[in-house]
Amino acid sequence: MKHLLNILDLTTEELDDLIKTALDIEANPEKYQDKCAHKTLATLFFEPSTRTRLSFESAMLSLGGTVLGFSSASASSTAKGESCADTIEVVSGYVDIIAMRHPKEGAAQVGIDHSRCPVINAGDGGHYHPTQTLADICTIYKEKGRLNNLTIGVCGDLKYGRTVHSLLACMSRYSGIKFVLISPKELALPEFEKQEFIKNKNIPYEEIQSLEEAIPQLDILYMTRIQKERFLDANEYERLKDSYILTAEKMELAKKDMIVLHPLPRVNEISVKVDKDPRACYFEETRCGKYMRMALIMKLLKEKNEPINIEIKDTFVGDKKCANPHCITGTEQELENLVYKDKEGFIRCAYCDSIVK
Ligand code: ASP
Repeated sequence: MKHLLNILDLTTEELDDLIKTALDIEANPEKYQDKCAHKTLATLFFEPSTRTRLSFESAMLSLGGTVLGFSSASASSTAKGESCADTIEVVSGYVDIIAMRHPKEGAAQVGIDHSRCPVINAGDGGHYHPTQTLADICTIYKEKGRLNNLTIGVCGDLKYGRTVHSLLACMSRYSGIKFVLISPKELALPEFEKQEFIKNKNIPYEEIQSLEEAIPQLDILYMTRIQKERFLDANEYERLKDSYILTAEKMELAKKDMIVLHPLPRVNEISVKVDKDPRACYFEETRCGKYMRMALIMKLLKEKNEPINIEIKDTFVGDKKCANPHCITGTEQELENLVYKDKEGFIRCAYCDSIVK
């Protein structure tokens, strides 16, 4: 069955089609108002959300479907100790499609393994957030008219920022891309993502700590929030939380046609004065998110029983447990130590992709 775990589960042709559909939905919403009549979406959010959950729900309602779900783990039987696997097993018997978010990396894989219907990963810890990438690329396409030949700066928390991981994975497949990685050393992009999405593909990149120095060359500036909830050390968060603040003065150093994206919520990384700048596209991005989610729901329901065309990891049961403190294997009952060998020969956890020592 088709699911969406990782943005790389969709080919660039499929992404083009989703964007085309999203733009048509925006122009002709009435054409789509009954496309999912009698279908139900479950939004299972074990972690807080505003845009992702509500845009999924709004998307399904605008397609004529219905919605059920929960918006926090405490409002579900997770609070009584139920496993993620059991929750998905049960709910997938009630609905046609599931969008799930969970604080643990790899939880969406557990969902997929236990579901009777398509599952969309709406964010699994600091791992991936593919539908935010759908919102990002639709906005880029609308504003720049292309997804290639772009210098893309990602700024802030590149370590825990799942939207950054999915965006880099996605954009690494287009030609003429350069990445500028702007972060404090402590929040640098993890080696796995750098290897997979940048080095292995010979994509030019720079790592830099100063936003002012980076900004003049950028076509896209992707700001991110420092992910407070993922820090194991609260003092470290306090020290790093104000690492970057985009101000109107810094915007003066940027190209006239650079665009600013942010997956939101913003804490203080972008001064509200920047909102009036025509290059600020983060609220437009939230609208694109709804149309892209509508296009995705229609696609997954339509293609539910078609053969899948994605590369499946060759997994086996390893002898060691994953040591990543953020991995679902640390909390979910009786999960096997499933691992796979990556292209460099490292053994990685099949859920969160961390190296298993
Ligand atoms: N809303 C995005 C996410 O769920 C970004 C963020 O929370 O900072 O990852």
